[in-house]
Amino acid sequence: MEALQPVRGTRDILGEDQRRFAHVAGTARHTAELYGFDEWSTPIFEDTRVFARTLGDTSDVVTKEMYTFQDRGGDSLTLRPENTAGICRALVTAGLTQSLPQKVFYAGPMFRYERPQKGRYRQFHQIGAELIGAPEPLADAEVMALGWHILGGLGLTADVMLELNTLGDTPSRDAYRRALVAYFEGHKSALSADSQDRLARNPMRILDSKDEGDRTIVGSAPTIGAYLTDEAAGFYETVRTHLAGFGVPFRENPRIVRGLDYYSHTAFEFVTTRLGAQGTVMAGGRYDGLVAEMGGPPTPAVGWAAGIERLSMLLAEAPQPPAAVAVIPLGERAEATAVTLLQKLRHANIRAEIAYRGNMKKRMERANKLGARAVVIIGDDEAARGVAAVKDLATGTQVEVALEDVARSLSV
Ligand code: ATP
Ligand code: MG
Repeated sequence: MEALQPVRGTRDILGEDQRRFAHVAGTARHTAELYGFDEWSTPIFEDTRVFARTLGDTSDVVTKEMYTFQDRGGDSLTLRPENTAGICRALVTAGLTQSLPQKVFYAGPMFRYERPQKGRYRQFHQIGAELIGAPEPLADAEVMALGWHILGGLGLTADVMLELNTLGDTPSRDAYRRALVAYFEGHKSALSADSQDRLARNPMRILDSKDEGDRTIVGSAPTIGAYLTDEAAGFYETVRTHLAGFGVPFRENPRIVRGLDYYSHTAFEFVTTRLGAQGTVMAGGRYDGLVAEMGGPPTPAVGWAAGIERLSMLLAEAPQPPAAVAVIPLGERAEATAVTLLQKLRHANIRAEIAYRGNMKKRMERANKLGARAVVIIGDDEAARGVAAVKDLATGTQVEVALEDVARSLSV
C-alpha cells in the first residue's frame, strides 16, 4: 500500500528536533516568567472575524495566507495564522480589560498557506509576548528586552541584531503615507505587480517587499523621520533611551514595517544573516488599535512573536537528555528484581532503561549504543543475595552494591 505523506508545508518533529523546540519554548517561558509574564493558551481555530477584522483587509495574511473553512454547522472558522488577535479576543472574553496591564506569554502552532521553503512552513510554531494596557514607551523597551534576554538564554546574541523603527502616530503616518505614494507613483511602472497593488491599498507595505527590483526603488524612498510629529518623535526617543538602559543593542532601520496592519509607533525585528531569505526570527511592535477591534475599550498594547523553527535552526547543538543507566537482568528471578530496581532509579530522578532481550553481550552492546553512563547487572545469584554489579562505563570500574544503595550510588 502507498505510504501516506505529511501535508505539504507540514512536518513531523521527532527526537532531536523536538528537543530543540522544547529548549526554545522552555527558555522563553522561563525568561518571560522573570519579566512577570503569565502564559495563556487560546484555541487553535477561531471565528474567521477574529482575524479578518484585526489583521486588516490588506495584509498578506488575510488576503492570501489563511486556512479558512466552513464547519459542519456552517460557521466560517480559521486556523490561527498568529496569536495576537486571539489573545486580545480572550482578554475581552474574560473581562480583563478593566484589569490592566496584562502581561501574556504564549507558545504554540500557527497556520499560513505560504509557499514552503527553508524556514517557512504551513504549520509553524511561535512563542510570543504581549504587554497589554501600557501606553508608555517603557513597555515597548521592556518587551524588546525580554526578547533579547531570551535570545541570550539561547546563546544567540552574537547571531542576531535588533532592527528598530517607528511608524509614528496617526498624523505622522498619514503625512508619511502621502509622501510615499507621491514617490512610488513616480516609479510605478518599475514596481512589481504586488507592489503596484499595495500602492493603491497599503503603500507602506512596499517598504517590506522582498522583490529585488522593488528593493532598489525602496532604497531611495523617503523615510518617516521627517514626518514624525513632536509627540511621536519624543516617544521614539524614549524607547531608544530605555533600550540602552536595558542593555539591548539595536540598529535603526527605517525600512522595518510590520506585515500586519494594526501597528503604530514601535516596529522591530530581530534578524540574523544565517538563515538566508528567512532572516527574521522575532518581530513585533505596538498595536494600540487591536483590542478595540475585538469589541473592547481602546487599549494600548505592544508585543512580539518569534518563529520556533527559525530559532531552533540557529541553535548550535540540540540539547541532550541526561545519559541513562542500563539495567541488565540475567535470569528469570533477576528480571523481577531488576524491574523493582528500575522503578527505584526512576523515582530517584535517574534516567533508566531495561533491555528486553538478548544475552549479556547483546545487552551490553545495547547499553553502549544508548550512550549509558553505567550498567547495573543482576544475575539470579546477585538477586538472591540482594546485590547488583554496578559498572561505570566511563571508567570501567565495577563494584558490588546492595540493591537499596544502587540509586544513591548512581545519583549525580
Ligand atoms: P515573513 O516576512 O518572514 O513572512 P511575517 O512578517 O509574516 O514574516 P510575523 O507574522 O511577524 O512574520 O511572524 C513572526 C515570526 O514568525 C517571523 O519572524 C518568523 O520567525 C515566524 N514565521 C512567520 N511565518 C512563518 C512561516 N510560514 N514558517 C515559519 N516561521 C514563520
Ligand atoms: Mg509572512
